[in-house]
Amino acid sequence: MQTSSGRIGAKDVVVALGPWSDKVFEPLGYRIPLRAKRGYHMHYQATKPMLSMPYVDSEQGYVVAPMQERLRLTTGVEIARREAKPSGVQLERAERSAKPVFGLGERLDANPWLGLRPCTPDMRPIIGRAPRHRGLWFSFGHNHHGLTLGPVSGRLLAEMMTGEEPFVDARPFRPERFA
Ligand SMILES: Cc1cc2nc3c(=O)[nH]c(=O)nc-3n(C[C@H](O)[C@H](O)[C@H](O)COP(=O)(O)OP(=O)(O)OC[C@H]3O[C@@H](n4cnc5c(N)ncnc54)[C@H](O)[C@@H]3O)c2cc1C
Repeated sequence: MQTSSGRIGAKDVVVALGPWSDKVFEPLGYRIPLRAKRGYHMHYQATKPMLSMPYVDSEQGYVVAPMQERLRLTTGVEIARREAKPSGVQLERAERSAKPVFGLGERLDANPWLGLRPCTPDMRPIIGRAPRHRGLWFSFGHNHHGLTLGPVSGRLLAEMMTGEEPFVDARPFRPERFA
């Protein structure tokens, strides 16, 4: 494989590029429906006594979490093209609702952080052998739970690649389900 730091050869290769994984699997002919659900966060001065735990407002669709001497506001899902410019709408809406309740003060970041949740239609990740390319493996599409699932996905994939007995049934995650 040709990379920016030279040519790299390997017996096995894993595509684990999150919401950008299609840049590799699409040119290889795989039609896997992977889309990004976007979300923002911003940090604020705390103007009230610090929260002791994160708070989820499921009606308004945001999370306020205590960080070191600051509060973080995280938004829900924004449906937009992956490369579309950030929009201030979602964060401003959450901010209006959260500000008076949690005492969010001044914004502390120059710009909101924008992240992408790589999502599949059945909300399950794609983990396993690429059906038509020997030595190619997939591990992406962890939806909203990539931070939580990363370690177990890594273990499952390692077991599949080394021929060990997988610790869970890997069939629900097989790439072929969308082929
Ligand atoms: C707002 C928000 C809230 C979230 N909340 C939670 C939560 O509460 N719990 C939870 O478990 N998860 C959460 N997540 C995580 C998330 O939903 C994903 O599942 C997770 O980030 C996916 O991890 P990943 O490693 O597959 O992809 P990513 O973390 O996106 O990593 C992909 C990596 O590939 C790199 N890359 C892409 N293209 C190339 C290239 N051509 N060359 C080299 N490198 C490349 C990127 O730079 C990136 O580092 C949240 C995400 C967002 C955006």
